Amino acid sequence: MRAFLALLAILLTLLPGPAVAQSILRDAETEAFFRDISRDLVLAAGLEPNNVHFILVGDNSINAFVTGGQNVFIHSGLIIAADNVNELQGVIAHELGHIAAGHNVRFNEGAGPASRISILSLIGAVAAMAAGAGEAGMAILGMGQTAAMGKFLAFTRDQESRTDQAGAVFLSKAGISGRGSIDFFKKLQNQEFRLAIPQNNEYVRTHPLSGTRISNLLAVYEKDAAWNKPADPRLQARFERIKGKLIGFVEEPRIVMQKYPDGVNTPAALYARAYAWHRSGYPDQAMANAAQLVAKAPDDPFFLELQGQILLESGKVDDAIPVLRHAADRAPFEPMILTLLGHALVSSETPALQTEAEPLLKKSVALDRENPFTWYQLGVIYDRRGDKPRAALAAAERFSLEGNAMGAMMNARLARAALPAGSPDFIRADDIMMVAGDALEQQKKKKR
Ligand SMILES: [Zn+2]
Repeated sequence: MRAFLALLAILLTLLPGPAVAQSILRDAETEAFFRDISRDLVLAAGLEPNNVHFILVGDNSINAFVTGGQNVFIHSGLIIAADNVNELQGVIAHELGHIAAGHNVRFNEGAGPASRISILSLIGAVAAMAAGAGEAGMAILGMGQTAAMGKFLAFTRDQESRTDQAGAVFLSKAGISGRGSIDFFKKLQNQEFRLAIPQNNEYVRTHPLSGTRISNLLAVYEKDAAWNKPADPRLQARFERIKGKLIGFVEEPRIVMQKYPDGVNTPAALYARAYAWHRSGYPDQAMANAAQLVAKAPDDPFFLELQGQILLESGKVDDAIPVLRHAADRAPFEPMILTLLGHALVSSETPALQTEAEPLLKKSVALDRENPFTWYQLGVIYDRRGDKPRAALAAAERFSLEGNAMGAMMNARLARAALPAGSPDFIRADDIMMVAGDALEQQKKKKR
């Protein structure tokens, strides 16, 4: 395991800065949290909660932005800079204002759902490499910048003011105080004054701030019935967990240990230290912290998920499986947990467990088709069984999600040639060939 962590570190140093800085982080608990703190705001914006996607970007700078297709991107740095869930809700309300106003189209040309996705699940890239998919891991790590991430849409002050007002309306309708929004803006403004060049503050660059904006907002918020309403304590507790987890995952272990020293045993601190130890290659300490988390809440699917992950990636497959079964039992509709259990079962190489893994992985892709790692695991099962066409189709799905049009094309063609004409899998292979063909055409045009 330590070798794989080292490999990850090397990849991170070899890849150019911005690419690494902007990988997408996927985590079941964080995504559920984003959905829950935003649902009322999304409805207030007249949008459909199922259509709005929140995407966590692994980047230390403080930023959030929107792209076409109702995607709200939130940098890890923004969550770390926020002190409570209400501040985050203020930012989200504002970003939804951009979506509702249609300020969101510029860099979506040619980017289908597939090219949007590059995944670094909190441990997934390491796991992919551990499973022998070094190239997949590489692609996962390197892709972030391609489709959506390269450019930010800088808004005019005028647009910003109107978006502020829209955000204030959404907060009011959702019964959420604007206090956090003001606190967060003030925090950004202080940073802006402190630093001559706010290099680490993309949000300010793309969302020009001014004292007038803040005072205009304050005037609206203060009159609102929700102004003095405190944040929902359950959401606040979840915010602290997410923040601890994220700090453990993205910050230098030394900094993690300063922020969450030994002896502090809140869920956030245990999460942070478990990730920091795990990333540094100290499985015993990581496992001890994870076990403390599970002792706090033995049925918490996310605590179990972390414990299972650490066990699995420390080579203790047999110990990981029952823990992950328990997690999947408690969260039967969390595709990332299902995939992790599937991965553990596939790693065991015991035939009966492969049989158990297949329906789990199929359920996972039915819930979330855009996780290349799930397709990778399914492909392993098909391949071991000698079902070459379906193994090829799974590989085509995976390459397509990773933006590897050539790989997608070759595998889809292989699958299509061997599958019964007109069957659903045949049609799917056909679709992937078409999308990959278009992408290859585009690449050719660019080269000319
Ligand atoms: Zn804005």
